[in-house]
This record gives sequence, C-alpha cells and structure tokens, in this order.
Amino acid sequence: MNHWLPTDCHAHSTHSDGALRVEEVVARGEALGVRPSVSDHISRDAPTSLDSVERVEAYLDDLDQYDVLRGGEFCWHDVLWRELPANVVRRFTHRLGSLHAIPLAGGQLCRAFVSALPEGVSPDAYVAAHVDALEQLAREMPVDILAHPTLIPPPLRTMDPHELWTEAREERMIQALRAAGVAFEVSARYPPHERIVRRAADAGVRLSLGSDGHSKAQVANVAAPLALARSLGVPDEALFDPVRHGSRTGAFDV
Ligand SMILES: [Zn+2]
Ligand SMILES: [Zn+2]
Repeated sequence: MNHWLPTDCHAHSTHSDGALRVEEVVARGEALGVRPSVSDHISRDAPTSLDSVERVEAYLDDLDQYDVLRGGEFCWHDVLWRELPANVVRRFTHRLGSLHAIPLAGGQLCRAFVSALPEGVSPDAYVAAHVDALEQLAREMPVDILAHPTLIPPPLRTMDPHELWTEAREERMIQALRAAGVAFEVSARYPPHERIVRRAADAGVRLSLGSDGHSKAQVANVAAPLALARSLGVPDEALFDPVRHGSRTGAFDV
C-alpha cells in the first residue's frame, strides 16, 4: 500500500439489490480512486437472494475472484447473522450491521422505510426505540460498522435532527458504539447530521465511509462523507479500513 486511498466500506452489487455486477463495482472504484467493497444484503428480510449459509458461501466464492473487499450488510432484526459459522464469518473482510426495522414498545416491528409511522406512534417514540435497538445491536452483534446510524422513516427525515435525536440520545448511541468497538458509518445515501458525527469523532469512535451505492452514479462515491470527516479534523488514515485496522470477523488475525 503506497498512498492512502479512501475505502468505500458499503456498496451493493447484483448479488443483492445493486445494479452493478461485481466487476463493475471494482471498475467504479478504480475510476474514482477509491478502494471498493461489495457488501450485499445478507438477510431473510431484505431485497436479496443471500438468505442461507450456502448462498453466502457461494457469494464469498465469487468475491474471491476479484480485487475487492468482501463485506456484508446484515439486518440486526433478522436471525441469519446468528447462524453463520465462524469459518464463514472469517471470510469477510468486514461486516456491517443495520437497523432496517425497529421493535417498538409492545414488540411490534416497524420498518425504517415505512411511508407513515404506525397509528399512535410519535416521531419521538420511534427515535427512542431506535436508540434502544442501537444499544442492543452494539451489545450483541459482532460487526465492524453500524451502517447509516441515523436511518429513519421518510416522514421523519424532514424534521430537525437536533431536536429529534437530542444530545442525550446521541451520547447514548456514541457510547454504545465506543464500548463495542463498532465504527460509525458516514453514509452518502443517508447523511448523518454533523453534530452526531463530531460527537463520534470526539469520543474516539472510528468513522467509516460508505456510499451505500446501488447505481453506477453512487457506488464508490464517498466524496461527501470524506469531506465531512476531513472538516472535523479526522486524519484520513484513521478512517476505517479493515486491512489497516483489522476486523471482528477475524479475517486478518494471525
Ligand atoms: Zn441498509
Ligand atoms: Zn446498504
């Protein structure tokens, strides 16, 4: 490794709901001067066919043929990540955990992509449940990165994030990630507000760049997350790179 390149730790291919084949993801990385990853959805409750241990192994066999980081994006609320044996986990260069659905008080699961919150659930109650779920994910899910930490349903995205999240909630989120050693993704697709990213950086939580790209225009485009990290004074070399920093998968253990 001669000179530093930004790493896109989060991008999708045709193995799940991305538009690009793996070789096209690699080509986009080359074109943009970014080290590419393929981190497709691995879940029984996401738009993907990677829904069994056997299919995950076939996915990793395919990725082995390319010069690309081998990632995976796992739904915390789905059990598939709990079923992968250690020898399969070790084949990933890094793994991401996602809160694509949040258990609300009473046990009802609410997806992060709903066009309206369930009857009687306020934005404040939803975000409170999100923070509870995040703490649980950090405690039990051995991932390297929390993908899009501030992903919330579309109707909430127009609200003031400073009031929605509150400083106290941000503090809980960041301390949970810090205690677990999970990186905070600065997502190009679901951009976090600056205050929480600064809080993560100040607390020593590692930041990770993620395009969460599904299309040619998006994949490997981490310019905005990189600019934000740099504006907060985070050194390039501190941005999460599993080859440099290691992975909880054990891929780089000797
Ligand atoms: Zn996601
Ligand atoms: Zn994704």
